[in-house]
Amino acid sequence: MTTLPPAAVAISHVSHGGADYWMERENGETTLVIRADDEAAYAGFEGTADNGTFRAPTTGDNALALRNALPWLKPVKRGLATTAGTGDRLGICTPGHAAAFQSVGQGVNPVFAQQSIREMGRTHRQPRNVLDDATWGAFRQGWTGTVGADADHLKTFEDIDRCAEAGFVFYTIDPCDDLDLEAETTDISVLKQKADAVDWASFETTQADAMKYIGHTIDLESGPLVLDELAVLRTFGKFGPCLGHGLAMWRHLVDLGIDFEAEFAVDEALALTRPEEHAVLMLELKRLGVDVVSFAPKFVGKFEKGVEFIGDSDELRRDFKIQAEIARALGPYKLSLHSGSDKFSTYPWIAEETRGFVHLKTAGTSWAEALRIIARHDPELTREILALAIDSYESNKKSYHLSCDPARVATDLPDGQLDDLLTLIDSRQVLHVAYGAILDEFKPRMMKIWSDNDAELQDVIKGHFERHLAPFSPWAQQG
Ligand SMILES: [Zn+2]
Repeated sequence: MTTLPPAAVAISHVSHGGADYWMERENGETTLVIRADDEAAYAGFEGTADNGTFRAPTTGDNALALRNALPWLKPVKRGLATTAGTGDRLGICTPGHAAAFQSVGQGVNPVFAQQSIREMGRTHRQPRNVLDDATWGAFRQGWTGTVGADADHLKTFEDIDRCAEAGFVFYTIDPCDDLDLEAETTDISVLKQKADAVDWASFETTQADAMKYIGHTIDLESGPLVLDELAVLRTFGKFGPCLGHGLAMWRHLVDLGIDFEAEFAVDEALALTRPEEHAVLMLELKRLGVDVVSFAPKFVGKFEKGVEFIGDSDELRRDFKIQAEIARALGPYKLSLHSGSDKFSTYPWIAEETRGFVHLKTAGTSWAEALRIIARHDPELTREILALAIDSYESNKKSYHLSCDPARVATDLPDGQLDDLLTLIDSRQVLHVAYGAILDEFKPRMMKIWSDNDAELQDVIKGHFERHLAPFSPWAQQG
């Protein structure tokens, strides 16, 4: 007996290795069903067999067993393939994501499991939860393509170990806590002092060797990129400590002996990554044998959470073009677009300038869109959530790039228009970053609403991601 519409069962149904697998949903509870002539198909799962049908709860252990039974659900490296990460703080939005990849996102490769250590902390999730939820969601939607898994914004060896143990394959190394912002100067004498203080040995070089980049030219498609004294000094003054930290994290990953690929991310630094700095950083990583599949610079303008690009889009396009040329000249490797959600106006030319060598990361836009469902179905709860988000904004905003003002949030919308809270920038951002506080307070009530309105939730997520993926599909690379 199932209350799930037959079509939904049909979507999840898959035959593999002599067994049939599908998912049923009743009263919000999901169950994995396996039917096989040979009971060996049930091995590894925990559940109950009855008349050739095996029923298993959607637990973490059973997710692991399912990844072993249906190997395409196990995360794999995607190299230079066009990829998009669909960070899902709730662990319930993957069916909608998968549906978008199945429709207009064809050719773009999903990274359903993607969460930063910061987000895991605020949502009390472990790396395994992120992976397991993504497995169930992809399976439920009948996803049979490959999946990636991005352990995002790793800063310590311990972060790496936790994600490695869970089975992540893509590691985003973020060494930028050590960035020296005082090096954002054009004063050569200050930069020379900074250079004298760099721990060159931490990335296995000497000051004299590093300074050999001065005068070096990289031939790009649009002309030569000259690394002058200011650019070289500033790169090492600013990123010197990051290089040592990043190298140590890379070596730690290598020492684990796991199959992995990595990204080097400096996007959360509070300073721009100029083209010359990108080039010197990547030349240094190359020299050190740090072979990354993607690099996340901090581009010009503002890439804020959950909203359109803020800034001069012509300037951004020029920046993107040259950074993409550098990635082709020194790699190729992909450019990684962090806080990449909702930047709809930029996607067509980002896809074009990178020629599909791009990794799009979205984190939290699914959470913001899921809040629409709450806004539509429980105005009272929505008002409580909004009040909490405004009250806790000062602590929630930490480590995020935002331009919202909680004082500007519309707190007087009528019931029928609460959905607009997720469209208006101030409220969208205030709610976007309040996920930790909101879930701590209201999670059971919210989960019930999402569960009761699951089809609507998945539909909203699907539509939102179709807008993200469609522009990349024509340029999609398969690695
Ligand atoms: Zn980032």
